[in-house]
Amino acid sequence: MIFFFAFLQVLTCVVHSHPKQIIDLTHTFENGYTISWPSAKEYEFKIGSRGFNENLDSWYEGNDFSQAEHSGTHTDAPSHFAKGKWRLGDIPVERLIGPGIVIDISERAKEYRDTQLTVEDLTEWEKSFGIIPKGAIVIMHSGIGRFYGNKTAYFGWPAGTEEKNPKDTENLHFPGISSEAAKWIVDNRNIYGTGVDTASVDFGQSKKFTTHQIFGANNIWGLENLNNVNKLPPKGFTIYNMAYKGKEGSGGPSRVIAIFDSMPNSSTNMSSSRASSIVILLITLTHIFKSVLLS
Ligand SMILES: [Zn+2]
Repeated sequence: MIFFFAFLQVLTCVVHSHPKQIIDLTHTFENGYTISWPSAKEYEFKIGSRGFNENLDSWYEGNDFSQAEHSGTHTDAPSHFAKGKWRLGDIPVERLIGPGIVIDISERAKEYRDTQLTVEDLTEWEKSFGIIPKGAIVIMHSGIGRFYGNKTAYFGWPAGTEEKNPKDTENLHFPGISSEAAKWIVDNRNIYGTGVDTASVDFGQSKKFTTHQIFGANNIWGLENLNNVNKLPPKGFTIYNMAYKGKEGSGGPSRVIAIFDSMPNSSTNMSSSRASSIVILLITLTHIFKSVLLS
């Protein structure tokens, strides 16, 4: 009986130590919901075939979609703003995976839409959480991601802009990574990629996209229009950027997930259940040895 109980304990421990929390950082691609850069082609999904096919004697679905490279949750290849640097299909797959870190500027962004992630934000983060690791994916959490799907709110356009000029790029107001912060990162740390919950790694009022230029020149890619960034901790997870492998691409859609290094708040429970399993196992073994010796 006691052996059975020990077996159950060990089993529970094994089952509990496997699942890890996964966060999907991708916005669904859908007509009327997916956001493209204002001057770019909209995402468009068209039903091709959807129904019972007599010839096949089977249900059959097959459709078409088209979009600009920089639509929805997508990766900017380094070549987007830097001649001779990696296009999307050139990025080595091991450079699309890395430890994620989140820098939260959402409180500032509530007050001021043109705020940017600064060098001080980076150094303050490091004081609390340690040096930004090699191969990191540095993610800005601005909170603007909650407006995705509503162009006026997401782009920070003045009222009426969407109706008057839906391709407007002069009156964009959303946060980004400052060019000084980008320069500090490439000069002092070794990261693989960046990510933002806005439409661009440069802030909306940028005219020259210098942050894109600095990261691109250093073969650092950028994820734009990320979803669920507010559900991520400052560190302790790995980013998997499953980017479209377009040979000539300056960018393209990405399925992006974060996998936590461990189940949140479960480490203490896990170690205590593991310890109790070991104790019960030892008691069982003692009983078995005793009965063998006595027989
Ligand atoms: Zn882009």
